[in-house]
Amino acid sequence: MTQTEPETVPAPAPPQRVTHWIGGQRVAGVAERTAPVYDPALGTIRTEVPLASVDEVDRAVASASAAFVSWRTSSLTKRSQVLFAFRELVNQHKHELAELITAEHGKVLSDALGEVSRGLEVVEFACGIPHLLKGGHSEGVSTNVDVYSIRQPLGVCAIISPFNFPVMVPMWFMPIAIAAGNAVVLKPSEKDPSASLLIARLWEQAGLPAGVFNVVHGDKVAVDRLLEHPEVKAVSFVGSTPIARYVYETGARNGKRVQALGGAKNHMVVLPDADLDLAADAAVNAGFGSAGERCMAISVLVVVEPVADELVKRIRERIATLKVGDGRRSCDMGPLVTREHRDRVASYLAAGVDAGAELVVDGRGVQADGDEAGFWLGPSLLDRVSPEMSVYTDEIFGPVLSVVRVGGYAEALELVNANPYGNGTAIFTNDGGAARRYQNEVEVGMVGINVPIPVPMAYYSFGGWKDSLFGDSHAHGTEGVHFFTRGKVITSRWLDPSHGGINLGFPEND
Ligand code: NAD
Repeated sequence: MTQTEPETVPAPAPPQRVTHWIGGQRVAGVAERTAPVYDPALGTIRTEVPLASVDEVDRAVASASAAFVSWRTSSLTKRSQVLFAFRELVNQHKHELAELITAEHGKVLSDALGEVSRGLEVVEFACGIPHLLKGGHSEGVSTNVDVYSIRQPLGVCAIISPFNFPVMVPMWFMPIAIAAGNAVVLKPSEKDPSASLLIARLWEQAGLPAGVFNVVHGDKVAVDRLLEHPEVKAVSFVGSTPIARYVYETGARNGKRVQALGGAKNHMVVLPDADLDLAADAAVNAGFGSAGERCMAISVLVVVEPVADELVKRIRERIATLKVGDGRRSCDMGPLVTREHRDRVASYLAAGVDAGAELVVDGRGVQADGDEAGFWLGPSLLDRVSPEMSVYTDEIFGPVLSVVRVGGYAEALELVNANPYGNGTAIFTNDGGAARRYQNEVEVGMVGINVPIPVPMAYYSFGGWKDSLFGDSHAHGTEGVHFFTRGKVITSRWLDPSHGGINLGFPEND
């Protein structure tokens, strides 16, 4: 046997216990309440995370509030220098960040690295903050009167993030918030909290003054305190729809600016003229990548007959080649985030069959390349799903792809538009006119044409419609800059120096 390079990356050493990060320091939680953080590929508890009390949240907000006073007056040059330095540091530490993501979330390392790269794009966008904050100027709107607009920071901004992108989702918001002159309190998901502490250290090394970026771990207690704290001016939330709605309503009632991105049920429409190999590849990547735990995952294939039999066959062939296992090994798909979540996702397979769907591929009992105790569920495919089945109505958030067969474009469009979610959608076709019509008629915030996961670049804004977003600002891009700043318009009159006052040597007007 020849000696080969080991294919696996060892799990990063577990931290003793996760701490908060307040005022530029690690702060051990004093709260008696803690939550376990799992390594989902091993099925073991990796570490514990403190669940902050109201006092601990208050301490983080006070630290941010104090730091805001001088950060908001720091020059744009200084702020963009910090952003550039942060960009370099995240890039240098991207493997470390990816290993932490894989250890606590379970997604495969290449996917975790991709997550860091997408987050970095927003940091790069925010490096251009001097340009992004430029206002307008109208000279001479009246005699000696000029009008101009500026954008100013808000103060303390809270970010509350979900488990499925522990690096990318906070980075949708924090680089822009900070670059615009705000101070931030991040409340990451308690399921995979460790990456947020490495991010905090990188901000510190980048030269960000202590207190401008804080991390406080916790659950509903911490979120509720952030939603009612008078010093918190804006809340950026990403998570499931019921909590997004609650955060939006509670934050707004307390006078805060809120953007709350919710859950999803993304449909991919396949017209009969589509390239079926392209569509099958896309369905498999978008349905099972990150074990389906993506808000932009495709969960419903809406196939316009007569191509459903052929498409299902090609997807089944591709699923058979997927390797499920520990994300630190060379696998295509990792475990689900917790045992409880895996069991909930798996329960939909039985529910689908009971309701009359056809289980084409059953991921239960998958042979994973990893520890037996890991939270495994293989890719699963349900055909002949209909809109009243729970497998269709509910956001499953796992590796379960449903096929709904329809008779034509109009039926496909009606189905997508009737769905309460409106995060992402895709259409696969070779007919440009059909694609153009779909982009115009579909009631969804992000649309892909022969692209299954149409996540916008950082200089556009990310966000869904309907129950996938509460509030009126999407994340990053121009909308992100607007969310983290308030506009001010100045109307100024300066009398011509020839009209009296100190004689500066200007010729007198007639
Ligand atoms: P979640 O709603 O359970 O949790 C999100 C955040 O809310 C976490 O920080 C959590 O601690 C907090 N939280 C949980 N319960 C709460 C409560 N009762 N009161 C106050 N705060 C509470 O979501 P999750 O399971 O971590 O993430 C998966 C969900 O996020 C999916 O629904 C997915 O579609 C959604 N998501 C949406 C987007 C998007 O852009 N629209 C992006 C990523 C994830």
